Amino acid sequence: MDDRDGKIWMDGELVEWRDARIHVLSHTLHYGCGAFEGVRAYNTAKGTAIFRLREHTERLFNSAKILRMKIPFSLEQVEAAQKQVVRENQLESCYLRPLTWIGSEKLGVSPKGNKIHLMVAAWAWGAYLGEEGLQRGIRVKTSSYTRHHVNITMTQAKAVSNYTNSILANMEALDDGYDEALLLDASGFVSEGAGENLFVIKGGVVYTPDLSAGALNGITRNTIFHICEDLGLKLVEKRITRDEVYICDEAFFTGTAAEVTPIRELDRIELGRGSRGPITEKIQSAFFDIVNGRNPKYAHWLSLV
Ligand code: PMP
Repeated sequence: MDDRDGKIWMDGELVEWRDARIHVLSHTLHYGCGAFEGVRAYNTAKGTAIFRLREHTERLFNSAKILRMKIPFSLEQVEAAQKQVVRENQLESCYLRPLTWIGSEKLGVSPKGNKIHLMVAAWAWGAYLGEEGLQRGIRVKTSSYTRHHVNITMTQAKAVSNYTNSILANMEALDDGYDEALLLDASGFVSEGAGENLFVIKGGVVYTPDLSAGALNGITRNTIFHICEDLGLKLVEKRITRDEVYICDEAFFTGTAAEVTPIRELDRIELGRGSRGPITEKIQSAFFDIVNGRNPKYAHWLSLV
């Protein structure tokens, strides 16, 4: 996707898409210490708006803090950069990818003294797990790979290196004919998808793994908490076992890219009635109302570009 027209924000300047290059000796490319965000902008009645821009930008700074990287821009500058990229590329709705990485001044595990860089790109990206997935639900496989333990690469950082684990799990699932992977933590409790948080519904109660299982503190996950409150649904964060998922009534994944994607099968076991469940459908519909600007209660979550 490198040879195309468009602009990418790189270290404070807009550069041509095909010129947004880095050196092969960049520290992050070798050792994987870097952080990124996934953000979406939606085409609302008032114009294109970035969903929960502040929370995503804060998480990027927190990820960098955890990784001991000092982003050389202010939070406000990084917010402005994201709006600018959407405007400059004339995108009505899109996915945004801010990423911070360590430069190529020297190699060796210690990055001390190397420059910290930041870029923001944006492009049109539809349903991450497919339009059909949003309607019918997807098929998921419990991964043979374990999610990171909380004291390994730091699970609250959206760190570049954490995604090797996600890639392995996702590739295994796809090679085995599934749509996505579900990872368990080092103790065997359910953690999250390769790029999504998990929710299960049983007896009208909504459950999600607590963050001690190594799941990312998803911004969509938090949005679901608000939706459950609005819908009068009880929400419980707790340890969840794999077989609790097998016998749930409904399940779904959440994420900025995945939005709210129902899960119809885990390990070839049908979940509930094997399609998008009625509570999932309500939550999904409330989610799309919020991100598309149709719920005034959450207008403050939408930053017009
Ligand atoms: N877990 C992982 C591993 C992810 O990559 C993502 C996507 N950022 C999520 C959960 C969901 O987070 P969010 O809702 O903030 O996009």
